[in-house]
Amino acid sequence: MKKDLVNYLVSIISVFAIVWLKYLIEPYTLNKAPFLLFYIPISLSTWIGGIRLGIFTTLLSTLLVDYFSLIPLYTILTNDFPTWVNIFLFVIQAAVIIYIVHGLKTAVQKEKLVNQELKYTSTKLQTIIDSAHEPIVIKDIKGKYLLLNPEGQKLFNIPLNQILGKDDTHFFPKKIARKVMTTDRRIMRTGKTEVFDQKLLFSGKERYFLTTKSPLKGAHGEIEGIIVIARDITERKHLEEKRNEFIGIASHELKTPLTSIKGYVQVLERIINKGGNDNAKLYIEKTCIYIDKLDKLIADLLDISKIQSGKMILNYTSFTAGELVDAGMESAQPMMNNHKIIKQGLNDLKVSGDKERLEQVFTNLLLNAAKYSPKSNKIIIDIKKEGGYVVFSVADFGIGIPKDKQGQVFNRYYRIIENKIGYPGLGLGLYISKEIIKRHKGKIWVKSEEGKGSTFYFSLPLVSK
Ligand code: ADP
Repeated sequence: MKKDLVNYLVSIISVFAIVWLKYLIEPYTLNKAPFLLFYIPISLSTWIGGIRLGIFTTLLSTLLVDYFSLIPLYTILTNDFPTWVNIFLFVIQAAVIIYIVHGLKTAVQKEKLVNQELKYTSTKLQTIIDSAHEPIVIKDIKGKYLLLNPEGQKLFNIPLNQILGKDDTHFFPKKIARKVMTTDRRIMRTGKTEVFDQKLLFSGKERYFLTTKSPLKGAHGEIEGIIVIARDITERKHLEEKRNEFIGIASHELKTPLTSIKGYVQVLERIINKGGNDNAKLYIEKTCIYIDKLDKLIADLLDISKIQSGKMILNYTSFTAGELVDAGMESAQPMMNNHKIIKQGLNDLKVSGDKERLEQVFTNLLLNAAKYSPKSNKIIIDIKKEGGYVVFSVADFGIGIPKDKQGQVFNRYYRIIENKIGYPGLGLGLYISKEIIKRHKGKIWVKSEEGKGSTFYFSLPLVSK
């Protein structure tokens, strides 16, 4: 409303300004074209206020010209036919100008709107591309990089200006680059999106990507390049590889004690058939050891699924550190051969937790200590108090763990490559132990020197008496 009023005011002022201007220049123009300058306020008001204001300005101009410039002067009444023709022509011309100016304004506004929308869309697109967690690449028809989002730049690890404008041969070994470019060309030729797993090399490291490649189409549907969205699935691939390897090892590990059990039972059968009982007790004992091993393996496998589904339930009771160590030693001892366990430290410290689960941690550590120190026969268990925690340790004098592997031994399925032969195992014991200790609000860690031995520690909150 207020804007309308201003527009009308502008129209009136501009028309009067022209009247005044004409009055000033009339001596020089001899009033030859009385309407001429009025096209200016008509165009101006149409531009700012639309058709209605244009018509208003035309009428006002006609009246004023008629009054001030057409003979008889200072009246709007006339019987002169040429004057009427003049007025009529002016109105027609003004109408044409109003029509043109209005059309021009609409076109300009439309273009502005389209530009705004384009800008908005491209900013939105840019934001989506930039904030995507997956690397996104756009290449032109020749395979040259046109766009790479920040996630993609992280992979290449070189400045963007050294990537844009170059093709894959600059970044990957020949064979890989050729493969990538062949796929790109095929997609650009067929115009069809393809989704596939892809192995690439970045900074010398193999990385796997779930890649979606789509043709980049221009305004008329013509193919101008290719859009690549690549999800890094390296971790998943590695886990898959490990899991497959694990299934192989697990079957082997389950089969080995079964074969021994079968052997001992057959020997027992023969002894019983003969009616004698020489060595029967020994074979039964050995059979029991292998049954225990099998039982432990199956229990470990069940624990993994319990941990993964969050279903490991702890039954808390209170006991002394010494009681826990004794229980762990008791369940490990039948499966150990010659090792002598020396127990030292503060037996009377009180802890609370799921005794069976904590005993399982001890058994794991003791069995590992024995397994990975075949040339030594001593294992030392120590109990200390540190701050508000009881710290247990199991030390062996065996093969030790290289520094760079110490952080990984608690990972699921992890086994040190060099130890895979000669030392059976699933790579689960330490992972399960870590999960059990974590659920007891404690910590587990290792100190080790290759060739000299390892000491595994775990802490549990101390219960004040
Ligand atoms: P595994 O069934 O293979 O023993 P663990 O989870 O118990 O699985 O241990 C993971 C890896 O850590 C083992 O494969 C071994 O390489 C290393 N490791 C564990 N305990 C010891 C130890 N006391 N001395 C040397 N290496 C060890």
